[in-house]
Amino acid sequence: MSTVGAGVPVHVTTTLGDAPRTVVPRPYVRPHDEEKWRPGVRRGDAPEAGTHGPSDPRRVRAVAYGTTMAFAQPLPRSLSPSRLGDFQTCPRRYQHASVERIPQPASYATVKGRVAHYVFEQLFGLDAPARNVQAAQGFVEDALAHVVTPEVVDEIGLDDELRARLLAETADIVERYFTMEDPRTIASEGVELRLGVTVDGTPLFGILDRLDREDDGALVIVDYKTGSLPNRNFDSQTFANAELYAVLCEEKLGERPRRIRLLYVSQGETIERPVSEVVIRARASAAATAWDRIKRYYDEGDFPATPSKNACRFCSFQDLCRSQGVAVPPRSSVG
Ligand code: SF4
Repeated sequence: MSTVGAGVPVHVTTTLGDAPRTVVPRPYVRPHDEEKWRPGVRRGDAPEAGTHGPSDPRRVRAVAYGTTMAFAQPLPRSLSPSRLGDFQTCPRRYQHASVERIPQPASYATVKGRVAHYVFEQLFGLDAPARNVQAAQGFVEDALAHVVTPEVVDEIGLDDELRARLLAETADIVERYFTMEDPRTIASEGVELRLGVTVDGTPLFGILDRLDREDDGALVIVDYKTGSLPNRNFDSQTFANAELYAVLCEEKLGERPRRIRLLYVSQGETIERPVSEVVIRARASAAATAWDRIKRYYDEGDFPATPSKNACRFCSFQDLCRSQGVAVPPRSSVG
């Protein structure tokens, strides 16, 4: 346990178990660069149990691929911001990733993100005065040892050259981060905070990178980004995940975060946005609508595919979809 704000308890020790996985031939995969992941922890979904457990008759359903097959897996117990994003992009993607739990191998970009997140997590585990750049750099090798499992080595083809590049780029990220903020001055209420709560009948679950308490008393959601900066006219999707984290905070902690801060640590740029009542309600409502549709599609046995150049571009399931007759745009146009 740790505490947030005025003694409000926050559970940070919940351990997610892996649900049974479907073993299938692996399609060509290219996970989204911003997908976050920790070894042994799936950011997407809480463990299966309860209402959609083994005794639930919905476990066996016909799905519309032109042949009869079944969802052997239960419906996930909860919806995370990143899985909501999957669903909103393409419901079939949600089906493959969250219901069927088809493995999505790592990419170099996702591994770099995991390594950087691990370093920052360790840094904020230190007492504030000890959070200096040397200490952070000291965690880089440890982060690689933690993140780069034998499976990851295979998946991204990590040889000595790529390993050296990963170390160097992570070291650059750490250096740049210290030009963005001084972690010795930050009052962190928690890092890697796991919050689960039901909002309007929708079970939500998310892991916040960091939750700060600033001098003016404001609670601030901080999210590290190791991918590219959005363009200057970034749309509402840039903040979508963090705004759903704000919903979780408000419901779980009884306090609405005042701001969201995205730290683009590869570029040394920060983007910030205030959190408003309107946004909170809109995000909660969108999640509730999506959850209703997810349950309906699960009951119907089919999550429709909505292929498009943008949707399919970073999707791991292109080959699988093509093999099932989905009109995924040609490889040359989706990358
Ligand atoms: S490849 Fe395209 S259509 Fe298939 S799941 Fe991914 S986003 Fe959906």
